[in-house]
Amino acid sequence: MTQAGERTASGNLRVNGDRLLSRLAALARIGATGDGGCRRLALSDEDRQGRDQLMAWLKEVGLETHVDAVGNIVGILPGETAGPAVIMGSHIDTVGTGGKFDGALGVLAALEVIQSIKETGITPPRPLAVIAFTNEEGARFQPDILGSCVWTGETSIEEARAIRDADGKAVGAELDRIGYAGRVKPGFLEAHAYLELHIEQGPILHAEGGGIGAVTGVQAISWTEYTLTGDPNHAGTTPMRYRRNTSLAAAGIIAFADALTHDIEGLVANVGRIVTEPGNVNVVPGRIVMTVDMRHPIDARLIDAEQRMADEIARISAATRVEIASRELARFPAQPFAEELIGVVEQAGKALGLKTRRMHSGAGHDAQIMATVAPTAMIFVPSIDGISHNPRERTEDADVVAGANVLLTAALTVAHARPRA
Ligand SMILES: [Zn+2]
Repeated sequence: MTQAGERTASGNLRVNGDRLLSRLAALARIGATGDGGCRRLALSDEDRQGRDQLMAWLKEVGLETHVDAVGNIVGILPGETAGPAVIMGSHIDTVGTGGKFDGALGVLAALEVIQSIKETGITPPRPLAVIAFTNEEGARFQPDILGSCVWTGETSIEEARAIRDADGKAVGAELDRIGYAGRVKPGFLEAHAYLELHIEQGPILHAEGGGIGAVTGVQAISWTEYTLTGDPNHAGTTPMRYRRNTSLAAAGIIAFADALTHDIEGLVANVGRIVTEPGNVNVVPGRIVMTVDMRHPIDARLIDAEQRMADEIARISAATRVEIASRELARFPAQPFAEELIGVVEQAGKALGLKTRRMHSGAGHDAQIMATVAPTAMIFVPSIDGISHNPRERTEDADVVAGANVLLTAALTVAHARPRA
């Protein structure tokens, strides 16, 4: 249990909001796309520059720094005991059309929390750590949330290093090239708890009165790529009955994905990528590669959706005589967070006078992987108009600072709590 003095100290302590905002702005200048957005694809030159900047800040604050074999960056403030740490973090890679806050907020707020605590001169009861996970976005290398999967041992370093991007460049070679294939073993630091502050990336908090989200878990995610093969016929001379029309089959898949969301309450589905070949106005596309992304907070509902999609794919293939091959790009089960930690986040929000609501995460996060090895929770702050993965991604300064203060308060509560039985 918390000592009276500690409770007072944690109750009054606040982050330096200006310092956090200025670091967010500085990181956003690296890979800036000129339209307010950022492009720091995992293990690119821009990602390396972002990493270099983060390492410089970690050292400036006086943290013990480590880079693990998959490039995860860790900064540690030692505690009174050398046991498991309260780990806070997120990622600093972005999608191709990323914003300033997705990921960066969770890493820089964690750094700010640790620096604010360090500046009080009080040694925390347990180590506090900030972590920036490699390739959370999966924009360049699939699957996504790679660094956290290697951290927990779900994916081996060898498997991760062998993953290639669309140009055939491997994670391993790119880690070596940018100088971030570190020596320490992923997962070297045991987690007493994991906390991640993140923008919501959806419209709910902003549309419904603002405040803080105490995230209850991450919904199940299924990404599938379909390759449709037909005949690249002339669009004028080939009678309709002779065509094997991949675009017609693709339309069937798109319409069915939408129909499923009307049938299965809570399901969301998206076709985000369609590449037609040869892509000419006057040629029936002989080949289409497309993706379907489906998510649901309950595993069984997502499995039902996947099964029905598979049945429909077989029906469409038979009806159009288009061959349809499927490949799983990513599949993660629903991951609930730790009830006690969700409560800690809720209490922290309320103690700071913030409107706080429970909500599930619509997006995938490193926290869902960390939740498999340690008590985990997330804090959401509002995304203006719900916009994310977009240069117009924005969160009010006051919400950025409020979220960091919730992280600070929650981290101190957890750091002072008794070890788990
Ligand atoms: Zn993110």
